Amino acid sequence: MCPIGTLSEWLWQGGAALHGRNRALPRWADLPLRSMKYLLLALVVWVVVMMPVPALAAFLSSPYGLVADVKMLDFFRDAGRLTTQVCSVLVILWVVTKNFWCRFLCPYGALMGLASLSSPMRITRDPATCIDCGKCAKACPSLIPVDVLRTVRTPECNGCLTCVSVCPVQDALEMRTLVGRRRIAAPRIALGVALIVVAVVGYAKTVGHWHGHVQEALFFKLIPSAGTLSHP
Ligand code: SF4
Ligand code: SF4
Repeated sequence: MCPIGTLSEWLWQGGAALHGRNRALPRWADLPLRSMKYLLLALVVWVVVMMPVPALAAFLSSPYGLVADVKMLDFFRDAGRLTTQVCSVLVILWVVTKNFWCRFLCPYGALMGLASLSSPMRITRDPATCIDCGKCAKACPSLIPVDVLRTVRTPECNGCLTCVSVCPVQDALEMRTLVGRRRIAAPRIALGVALIVVAVVGYAKTVGHWHGHVQEALFFKLIPSAGTLSHP
């Protein structure tokens, strides 16, 4: 569901179409670089946890906090030289390497990955029917060696089911429940995700938490001056 993840996929798929393949970093660089997203997540959590609740509320209701999204948009619309250079390097890395941003730098990806460890479902390989063709590992955008694992238990797996879709043997590789090993078909997973989104948004709308309490007129007053607002 992540738009950055979608962009990332398009870029490395474009890179593979241009150069025939994507490059993987050597293991000695891959492992320490993967820890960066957890460090960034820890920094974000630390900043939020260390902020007193009144200060957090004051920040969110300050003029800066109210139009923070607009300021972020302005940051990219009026990108300076350094921003352009950093974004260009990231795009090049995205094209060359599969999911560079998600794999090494995204704190939200780190959070999702850690949360996914508590999932009741896992990609599960049946060694009895697997023919060891290696197609699943080759196709995995997270570079997981699916072909030698019995159950994929890593925060790097985002449940995309690419490995399942390329497996030539029926039932050799499936998303299964941890308890009972019941097979979960892809349409049911998609339906489940859609239902969760509808339920969460529906609940938020019903209890009045979907919309903020800020008047639209205030946004229109603040947005033109967003560029001049500074952090409180
Ligand atoms: S579900 Fe996606 S990320 Fe997870 S092992 Fe399969 S291909 Fe890799
Ligand atoms: S693609 Fe299927 S058959 Fe081939 S190695 Fe992976 S699980 Fe085994």
